[in-house]
Amino acid sequence: MRRPLIAGNWKMNTTPEEGAELGRALAKALVDAPAVDVAVYPPFLSIGPVAQALRGTDVAVGGQDLHTETGGAYTGNTSGEMLAAAGCTTVLVGHSERRTYEQESGELLAAKTRAGLRAGLWVTFCCGETDAQRDAGDTLDVVRGQLADGLGGLTANELRNVVIAYEPVWAIGTGRTATPEQAQDVHAAIRAWVTSTWDAGVGRSMRILYGGSVKPTNVVGIMAKPDIDGALVGGASLKADSFDALVRFQSL
Ligand code: PEP
Repeated sequence: MRRPLIAGNWKMNTTPEEGAELGRALAKALVDAPAVDVAVYPPFLSIGPVAQALRGTDVAVGGQDLHTETGGAYTGNTSGEMLAAAGCTTVLVGHSERRTYEQESGELLAAKTRAGLRAGLWVTFCCGETDAQRDAGDTLDVVRGQLADGLGGLTANELRNVVIAYEPVWAIGTGRTATPEQAQDVHAAIRAWVTSTWDAGVGRSMRILYGGSVKPTNVVGIMAKPDIDGALVGGASLKADSFDALVRFQSL
């Protein structure tokens, strides 16, 4: 009932020309892709060329960040409305690299989530604990706290346009993937939190992605878990063949 979603976060990689090339390669590779949803999040300057390259496909294009306002005197920023006008249908909010390097707070991330929804984008909202927080036994408190801060003010109706991505910080870009069991434990706790905060219908329909060094060699075990509905992929989304393999995880 929850359609799988495989999403690629390109981070600060690809020039507009390289982005267009990767977009064209994906469009070609994914022509007969199975019934899963697919999204890519290129850097801002590559969004236009990537959206153009993927026109006519079902691959969603998204921004990696957005500002809370629609426009105005906010030098260096980009609004959700601008992303939508450039061909985006989705936006990432709360990636750990932005929480860490840009010091984005829970309050700001709640405002960014609302701004994305206001612009008509669906939001992939990221959460996840650090190594030290896991070692201290705080994983579930940290994750539930991040979700409460970022999503707690939304209505059940608004949540229909939200996807949660659980990304343990210690697994992002490190090659250290959570075991399917570790990921499933957190996903089940997230679903239970969604159910208790809203209702069972929202809990059942909420898609929860796992992210952290997902590759064609480990995606099958991860996707086999009942509360894991897809993957948010960094490194392995930058090559059309590995991303294509991830999208076809059902036949690996
Ligand atoms: C990410 O950037 O969200 C991510 C999970 O990266 P990687 O797959 O490279 O760990």
